[in-house]
Amino acid sequence: PILIEKFSQLTLSKEFLFFFFFFFYTHLTAIQQKSLPLSLDNKDLIAQAKTGSGKTVAFCIPILNKIDIKNFKIQSLILAPTRELAAQVAQSVETYGKYLPFKSAVIFGGVGINPQISLLKKGVDIVIATPGRLLDLVSQNCLDLTKIEFFILDEADRMLDMGFINDIRKVLAILPKQRQNLLFSATFSDDIKKLADSLLNSPVSIEAATANSTSHKVEQSVHLVDRERKKELLLHL
Ligand code: ADP
Ligand code: MG
Repeated sequence: PILIEKFSQLTLSKEFLFFFFFFFYTHLTAIQQKSLPLSLDNKDLIAQAKTGSGKTVAFCIPILNKIDIKNFKIQSLILAPTRELAAQVAQSVETYGKYLPFKSAVIFGGVGINPQISLLKKGVDIVIATPGRLLDLVSQNCLDLTKIEFFILDEADRMLDMGFINDIRKVLAILPKQRQNLLFSATFSDDIKKLADSLLNSPVSIEAATANSTSHKVEQSVHLVDRERKKELLLHL
């Protein structure tokens, strides 16, 4: 296969190319290079790459590239473990899709449900959600997931750490069988492989760095210090 290194080498709609050139995202990160040719070819993926490696772009491009705004149904569902992460992904979806006229909704608990219900009633194409509130809205018949074409599990390792496995299975049970699944994680574990095997259709597994290593840009060190001297040490660092 041809190695794809730049956004300009991808077969995408014009709006995208314009956007990415506009912001000088000329080169793809390693995980984008490995995942995009496959995800744009409708393959299911388990993708592992450390934090900060550009995984959000890696799943936003296939979603936005395929979006059919005349559909008037939720086509893509992105699950994230926390409300902060869901909000962050939602922000990225809006930014990357700036030149496309789709609608997205971000859904999480801890805030009023009614504004989310009225937003959904207006019709959205992409939903970014935490599992609990999503299932709440489904049980209240406020969310139609029967036309989902893309299912993304972001931060899969944290999802499992936070005990969302049963919620994920409940969500999967209501999604149409015919769909594309992308699972993204900063780390790989046997539990993630097990989850992936049960929810993806013969997934391709890709890694963009040595398994479970921390980012090389982050130097980690431990300094033991008495409480009284903490400020002094921090100033020194
Ligand atoms: P991850 O989800 O892997 O932790 P993010 O998707 O949050 O990483 O991306 C981290 C940062 O990298 C973001 O600020 C994003 O804008 C930037 N980024 C993504 N793709 C590229 C690229 N191809 N070139 C330069 N920067 C990029
Ligand atoms: Mg991420």
